[in-house]
Amino acid sequence: MAALYDAIILGAGHNGLVTACYLARAGWKVLVLERRYLVGGACVTEETFPGYKVSTAAYVNSLFRPEIIRDLKLKENGFELLERSPSSFTPTPDGRSLLMGPDAELTHREISKFSKKDADAYPKYEKMLLDVARVLEPTLVQRPPNLLNPGLRDLWSMYNLGRSFQKMGADGLTQSLEVLTGAARPILERWFESEPLKATLGTDAVIGAFAAPSMPGTAYVLFHHVMGETNGKRGVWAYVKGGMGSLTQALAKVAVSFGATIRTEAEVAKITVKAGAATGVVLSTGEEIAGRIVCSNADGHVTFKKLLEPGTLPPDFENAMSRMSYESATLKINVALSEVPNFTALPGGVGAHHRGTIHISPDLDYIERSYDDAKYGKTSSRPMLECCLPSVVDPSVAPPGQHLMSMFIQYAPYKLREGNWDTEKEIFADRCFDLLNEYAPNFKKSVIARQVLSPVDLERIFGLTGGNIFHGAMNLDRLFMLRPVVGHSGYRTPIRNLFLCGSAAHPGGGVIGAAGWNCAREILNRW
Ligand SMILES: Cc1cc2nc3c(=O)[nH]c(=O)nc-3n(C[C@H](O)[C@H](O)[C@H](O)COP(=O)(O)OP(=O)(O)OC[C@H]3O[C@@H](n4cnc5c(N)ncnc54)[C@H](O)[C@@H]3O)c2cc1C
Repeated sequence: MAALYDAIILGAGHNGLVTACYLARAGWKVLVLERRYLVGGACVTEETFPGYKVSTAAYVNSLFRPEIIRDLKLKENGFELLERSPSSFTPTPDGRSLLMGPDAELTHREISKFSKKDADAYPKYEKMLLDVARVLEPTLVQRPPNLLNPGLRDLWSMYNLGRSFQKMGADGLTQSLEVLTGAARPILERWFESEPLKATLGTDAVIGAFAAPSMPGTAYVLFHHVMGETNGKRGVWAYVKGGMGSLTQALAKVAVSFGATIRTEAEVAKITVKAGAATGVVLSTGEEIAGRIVCSNADGHVTFKKLLEPGTLPPDFENAMSRMSYESATLKINVALSEVPNFTALPGGVGAHHRGTIHISPDLDYIERSYDDAKYGKTSSRPMLECCLPSVVDPSVAPPGQHLMSMFIQYAPYKLREGNWDTEKEIFADRCFDLLNEYAPNFKKSVIARQVLSPVDLERIFGLTGGNIFHGAMNLDRLFMLRPVVGHSGYRTPIRNLFLCGSAAHPGGGVIGAAGWNCAREILNRW
């Protein structure tokens, strides 16, 4: 069969759409195939409740690369970021609360309520993270070097990275290595004494991970909050106007304007391979489509295990891939509300504290105990809640006078030791609601409707293996030049003409767009 398309993009997540934009802009004939009824993957807006624009999965942005926003003129195509200030609110069981960022004076004042020493230390802590982020951030938009078969370009990039770390000096380098490999808890304990502050920062360290802050690898996520930006302001997180789907809708519009074709409800059942090279795909309807190259935006398990014939991959790669962890303990609840939660700590109607992320996790031990349940295959008896009310900043996402809440919850292990998620999820959601009600007693009676997405639902709806929101754990052994497998971190796979363009590849999960962009550049450089 003659190749009909230059590139077939398997999956229309934000990364697949970024790849489609760049290839189509370069004049390639591009086809995007998405199994769902809409594009966007985990970055979508859906009218789950009548009149509401629900960001079903991902709900806040800071990481999406500004270069891509500018380059693809996404703002001119409907993408708008709405800054959140303050960025977080942590009520405590004794009726106090902590508001934070990005306003430095407010943060200092608020932390001082708990510890003057911590308030003074906080800017230094942020600077420490920023120093690490400055070294690492450029690597996000680079093809990681090949450690197994390095060419001149790989050696040069390793040398440059080494030099950047070297410049930090002994103290800076030691701190960086601890952030990259260590546990969040000892770092936070060393810097701070007040529990609400440590818990607020500790939540960030475990978000999306099946891990407690005392476990190695969690510190890596700490500097995510200083790595991104909103409208040029570093570390500021934002809502996307109209919901996260406005980003992927804008990307789809741009891709189509460059000539790409996008088909939804088009599930790929098989990637066809001849003589070690990908030649196209077969849809679940049996339709065969040929392409010069195939770029998979699906995760590694779906791409390599489900869509390739057994025996297609070299055993070495297949074995390494099969050990990728897809463990997950994330559950998401989207809630339609008649009014905002009225917190005992800051009573009243809509206030500044409703604008950012509301943390229900008063101290580090609390998070550790939440995790303890999950490690024995149980849902947390006192879960960790991260709640956001986008409607407070962006009234367009809820009917007039009503509100929308996103609840990102841990820990809800994919593999339950007893029962199953279809029966357990509503019971667990009730527990989460009871918990929030302890802090905001009007909450339960303000609920109009809710959507509970267990880890199993995340897998069924979004194709995320194990419900893992990052396309596989972001542990040190699967980051940068080790993601997804050492020696194969350059978006190419052992199958010629088969590329990975999504979060399975560097820099991993999150709405970043870098994997899609880096992959497109690799392809365009190659041809
Ligand atoms: C509940 C939840 C909350 C999150 N919150 C945030 C957040 O607030 N901020 C943030 O930055 N990140 C967040 N994340 C992480 C982030 O959303 C993801 O890491 C990111 O969206 C992944 O993008 P992607 O393009 O790489 O892949 P995906 O978005 O997973 O897209 C892959 C696409 O491929 C499609 N596909 C799979 N198999 C096939 C097939 N066989 N045929 C055709 N199509 C197929 C899927 O349907 C999907 O559309 C969250 C994730 C989840 C699940």
